[in-house]
Amino acid sequence: MVIQVVSLFPTMLAPVITSSMLGRAQALAGVEIRLVGMRPFGIGRHHQADDYPFGGGPGMLLRADVVVPAVEWAMMHHREPATILWTSPQGRRLDQQYCQELAQKSHLIIVAGHYEGIDERAIDLLGGSEVSIGDYVLTGGELPALILVDAVVRLQPGVLGAEEGAANDSFSNRELLEGPQYTRPEHYRGQSVPPILLSGNHRAILEWKQQVALQRTQERRPDLLSDRIDDGN
Ligand code: SAM
Repeated sequence: MVIQVVSLFPTMLAPVITSSMLGRAQALAGVEIRLVGMRPFGIGRHHQADDYPFGGGPGMLLRADVVVPAVEWAMMHHREPATILWTSPQGRRLDQQYCQELAQKSHLIIVAGHYEGIDERAIDLLGGSEVSIGDYVLTGGELPALILVDAVVRLQPGVLGAEEGAANDSFSNRELLEGPQYTRPEHYRGQSVPPILLSGNHRAILEWKQQVALQRTQERRPDLLSDRIDDGN
């Protein structure tokens, strides 16, 4: 899978995409994450990338004649056709199911807006989908782009070790939250690990995990359970 992130501030992204699991994904799991800066596509001697909105209003917009060539450059630099994702608070809300859909693609181009956003004509000309990471507004699309990259890359085969597979994660296991988990020490400040986890009885442990996952989902996210009933699951 190739993911390209197009941004006016690519240096914001660089340390994250080379660290931890994202670094490992690129070294071991055939994932390639590329950063495409918009600035070289800017206009004039100062490579201007933004301008005032027509009709007035606060802030600046990224210019279509900067964003479009930057995205087209990214499209040309991989042979597979790209799915273009525009980070935007107005887009489809990201959830685990959407991440699973995106994880099947071989080439993603994620565009980070900035300031007050992007001239609408860039989106109209190039197509693709707008993606939101939630109903709140950030200053730029760099953090949403990183969230998208992380959530999609960890679903690629070989990124998570077998022992840390994604199947039991919240939202992945039949729409349940994952239950509480424990590691060493066995006793800490008067709190002990539930004894069943130390019993060695794998079947009983599995049943306990399913039961506490259901209980936790009932307490914290009953909406997930009512969605399952509505879906007939
Ligand atoms: N004027 C826009 C509006 O009201 O819909 C908000 C623009 S926001 C200040 C600047 C950029 O941050 C957006 O173009 C987008 O790339 C990114 N952004 C902000 N909030 C986001 C969110 N919840 N999800 C995805 N991207 C977001």
